[in-house]
Order: sequence, then structure tokens, then C-alpha cells
Amino acid sequence: MELKLGWLYPKLMSTYGDRGNVICLQQRCQWRGIEASIVELDRESNANAFQTVDIIVGGGAQDRQQEIVMRDLQGAKAQAMREAIDGGTPGVFTCGSPQLLGHYYEPALGQRIEGLGILDLVSKHPGLEAKRCIGNVVFEIAASPLAEELQEMLQTPATIVGFENHGGRTYLGNVSPLGKVIQGYGNNGEDGTEGAFHRNAIATYSHGPLLPKNPFLADWLLQTALKRKYNRAIALQPLDNSLAMQARFAMFKRLNLLNLL
Ligand code: GLN
Repeated sequence: MELKLGWLYPKLMSTYGDRGNVICLQQRCQWRGIEASIVELDRESNANAFQTVDIIVGGGAQDRQQEIVMRDLQGAKAQAMREAIDGGTPGVFTCGSPQLLGHYYEPALGQRIEGLGILDLVSKHPGLEAKRCIGNVVFEIAASPLAEELQEMLQTPATIVGFENHGGRTYLGNVSPLGKVIQGYGNNGEDGTEGAFHRNAIATYSHGPLLPKNPFLADWLLQTALKRKYNRAIALQPLDNSLAMQARFAMFKRLNLLNLL
């Protein structure tokens, strides 16, 4: 079996360490004998490339880089991304990436940047004097098919731990939140929502990187991608997650949230 991992604009959108999500997916494939190649989706790629990948990974970026990406993604690439995501290609989009999948992003300085409108959400930076949302974030996966599938996998409700670092605030329209904030800011620090979930796309403010800290999410992405590609349910070979679980234990202990584990 093989999977193609599409990585959005690695040169422009790797400010916050989210490349760890790509490494995690690739490594978990290799450990299981699944071939995983990385396809860089960037300014040089043509639109078709966005549709030939089995999983899409997009990381965070600073406002300037984000603007370059958002401009490059208009037209045929935007259409290809929309078809891929609406068609159910699984993906994990962190921080700056969900902002560009929404309708627009208003940076602290300069003009509003049009997004792709794939997710019904908008993001606004309240200005340079406003507090940045920085720190550990813990959230519970909100009711959704994802929540049910993770519950089946884990035999307990899925709780995510990550690290957020954003100025922009995101407000959801008609799209489900990814999670309910237990600790931290999440989308905007006001309404208790974190991220968004649409078809098989996970949008989140959670860096970490997210997947090595929450390996069950990585496996959900792999399992979903394999099922779509090979048209049958594929049980993933279990892996030793003890190191990740130790890291989670340390994190939850520090945050006084051991009761959630
Ligand atoms: N530019 C965005 C913001 O500050 C995204 C930051 C990020 O990706 N961490 O909100």
C-alpha cells in the first residue's frame, strides 16, 4: 500500500514547527510497511497536483507569507483544493492554513486577504495592541463522525493537547467546530470553540506539532485515507505509542488535568 502526503507550501508555511505532522504521518506509515511519499504543493505545482494526493497537510505561517500563499491559491488551484477537501480527502490544517481555507483573513496591518471559502469561517486580527493567544491548549473533540470514530478507536472520548500561537481570531459560520476548549483560547477566546471539522478535514489552532502529541489523530487520518484509496476498511497495525503517552501524561499533569486521561 502507498499514500501520497501533500504538504502545502513548505517553504512559506513552516514557521511553527508543523512539519512535525508530515514527519509523524510518514514515519507511522513506514513503521507499518506502507509507502508514504511527500508531494510539495507550492508555487511551482500545477493545480492537478492538489488532487492526486491522499492526505493534505498545511502548517502555520506569518501574515506576510500567508498573503503570498493566499494569492497563489486563487483560480485553478483553489478549485482543485475545494474539490479535494469537499470530496473527502483527509487533511490537517493548522492555524494560518484554516485561516486561508475560510472566507477571509483580516491581518493586523494592511488589507483583508480573500480566502478560498471552503470552510464557512472568517478570521480577524484585532490589532497589534491586542493580546496574542499563546499557550498550551486542551480541547475535547466535539460531537461529529470524527468524535465517534475516535471514541471507537480509543474506547474513551478524545482529548487533544497542543500549543497555540496566533493573533487572528476565527469565527465559525455554518461549519462544525473541531473541539470544545477545556483550557486555552481556541478559535477566539470567547465562544469556547476550537478549530473546525468539514468532511475529513481537521482545522485547528493547535501546533505541537499536533500529530506526534496526539498519535490517534495521525492514525485516523491514515486509516481514512487508506479506506478512500483502497475502497475497503483497513485495520492499521498497532504501534508502540508509549513515548507519546508519557509526553501527554506529563503535559496533562502540568496543567492539572490528569482526570481527563
Ligand atoms: N498569521 C496568523 C495569526 O497570527 C497565523 C499564525 C500561525 O499560523 N501560528 O493569526
